[in-house]
Amino acid sequence: MLEIKNLHVKLEEEDKQILKGVDLKVGAGEVHAIMGPNGSGKSTLSYVLSGRDGYEVTEGSATLLDEELLDMEPEERAAAGLFLAFQYPVEIPGVGNMTFLRTALNAQRKARGEEEMSAADFLKMIREKAKTLKIDGDMLKRPVNMGFSGGEKKRNEILQMAVLEPKMCVLDETDSGLDVDAMKLVADGVNALRDAGRSFLVITHYQRLLDHIVPDVVHIMADGRIIKTGDKDLALEVEKNGYADILNEVA
Ligand code: ADP
Ligand code: MG
Ligand code: MG
Repeated sequence: MLEIKNLHVKLEEEDKQILKGVDLKVGAGEVHAIMGPNGSGKSTLSYVLSGRDGYEVTEGSATLLDEELLDMEPEERAAAGLFLAFQYPVEIPGVGNMTFLRTALNAQRKARGEEEMSAADFLKMIREKAKTLKIDGDMLKRPVNMGFSGGEKKRNEILQMAVLEPKMCVLDETDSGLDVDAMKLVADGVNALRDAGRSFLVITHYQRLLDHIVPDVVHIMADGRIIKTGDKDLALEVEKNGYADILNEVA
């Protein structure tokens, strides 16, 4: 599904190398978690995959279903099936949540040469999907994320994902700032989307999310590289001992 090879990234504005050779292969249907100390480059990796400005790829590649993502515009990446749930979801004043979702969905359909979804079909679909995430009609009508609580914003990210039905979902600290109940809702929303043709890259600081979204593979990232890969027990080891042991072991 996703193959990242020797990815090196620096900031455009400064001479600062952030990713220093990331290698990662996520198979179809797999859930991979990335953990790592603050500042190790986890968010940068998600931004570079999705095509955010401000970063320069100096070496390496990232392919989605064998197509080079790094040559595509952000909207082409989305149409190809990539989705990023932000660590800090943005508020969009003046744009109704439902209008936003329908516009995004139909733009992607158009880019793929598919027919637009009718207003009636969309309404039926969105109501169903919102229900499982406990997103009410009021939240659908309000401007995107405006006045939403932290938990509501994160749930809204998962709703976007459920609507767009991407192939490769990248979730950047979707659990940060959530209480246990909100985290459970987010995890249930993600688990409902798990499918043989869909993969997930779950970036998280805390092991507890991984009790609910059980990963197939866990990677530890530090200083712009993946320094260790294991199974879900690796996350438990981090929870118990912190990153120090792993960093020492690798050094
Ligand atoms: P993580 O998500 O693992 O906490 P980030 O990817 O956010 O790490 O950041 C990695 C490093 O790159 C940090 O040292 C951060 O300060 C720096 N960095 C990332 N983006 C920028 C930017 N736009 N301007 C300045 N520094 C940045
Ligand atoms: Mg951070
Ligand atoms: Mg981050």
